[in-house]
Amino acid sequence: MEQMDGLTVTACERCAELCESRSRIVSGVGPEDADLVFVGEAPGATEDERGEPFVGRSGDVLDDALRDAGLARADVRITNCVRCRPPDNRDPADDELENCREYLERELDLLDPEVIVTLGKVPSEHLLERSVGVTNEAGSVVETRVAGTPRRVLISVHPAATLYDPSQRETFAETIATAADLAGAAESGDGQARLGDF
Ligand code: URA
Repeated sequence: MEQMDGLTVTACERCAELCESRSRIVSGVGPEDADLVFVGEAPGATEDERGEPFVGRSGDVLDDALRDAGLARADVRITNCVRCRPPDNRDPADDELENCREYLERELDLLDPEVIVTLGKVPSEHLLERSVGVTNEAGSVVETRVAGTPRRVLISVHPAATLYDPSQRETFAETIATAADLAGAAESGDGQARLGDF
């Protein structure tokens, strides 16, 4: 029987294999009125241990890019398509994505963000409901519908891609800068934050 406390999933047993592999359910974090929502794939080992999305190496890459774009992690919402760690960090299966979709849709409906940034292939394909070549399409803004509501999706490479392929660093940084601009951060004082970094 599923239970939610606001946007926090407190109990869910829809995916037998994930119930076995998880230590805990990892719900999204960040303000419930954030203009920007980052959607990853599923928790990894560190996220499973700490109960928060993107707090391992990928999270460090994301935090750095946010800071460089004049944004703070605390200002954005960060979540995943699937809330439980898959065994051996495998990709979430289609039925797992479907089982968890309701939680993501509820989150997006409540937040009603300016922009949804999909981090990598799995979330991009899940929300756009088509195949996506993230390397080629990174930085593209796509108008789509999620659960019937018009949404603006910005496709991004996964932050981990920059760790094994340094040529992706610029693409990732540019995409996060685009996200900041689309969310209006450029007009609302982030210039100060940028200067403050030096
Ligand atoms: N990768 C993801 O897609 N999500 C996380 O939370 C961490 C790493």
